[in-house]
Amino acid sequence: MVLTTKRLATGRLCLELVATVHGRLGDAPNDDLLDGAAVAQWLAAVGVEIAEAPVADDVSHYVEVREAVCRLVTVSVTGTAEQRGEDVALVNAWARGSAPVPQLRVEERSLVSDTAKPTPRQVLTAVARDAIDLLTTPESARLHQCDGSHCGTVFLDTSRGGRRRWCSSDRCGNRARVAAHRDRHSEV
Ligand SMILES: [Zn+2]
Repeated sequence: MVLTTKRLATGRLCLELVATVHGRLGDAPNDDLLDGAAVAQWLAAVGVEIAEAPVADDVSHYVEVREAVCRLVTVSVTGTAEQRGEDVALVNAWARGSAPVPQLRVEERSLVSDTAKPTPRQVLTAVARDAIDLLTTPESARLHQCDGSHCGTVFLDTSRGGRRRWCSSDRCGNRARVAAHRDRHSEV
């Protein structure tokens, strides 16, 4: 089921979770998900309303699932290594978890959603199912790793020509433009 109607920079919820580590390919990656409050903040940013605040256990689960999905997606895009059985097993285990069941209610002659908000664990089940769907459908051919030198973020390129280069034009795209500008000037 769809947990968010927000337009996501990477195009998919599972990729958005992977992108909570910045500069993966550099010497000092930055992790956004250091505690429960940070996980809550990320969920709010991607437009997922949750039933209860994430606790410490949730944080380690988010990191575990994130890293497994990251390896699966990265190998799928770059083809540089074998897929790890442990990652497949972890994603499968979470995908078997319970997720909120969509429910309808009639309100003043209109139909509205009466689905309960998910718990932080149920969101991970949705993330795992999203990853399985993404990695096994023709859409996976549109996965691309950001051209940013230290970035490593994988996104779904839904642009018409399929030539999107950056995870975010504000972040990596802008950095590349600034670097190119600097190079041009240092040559003069
Ligand atoms: Zn990037």
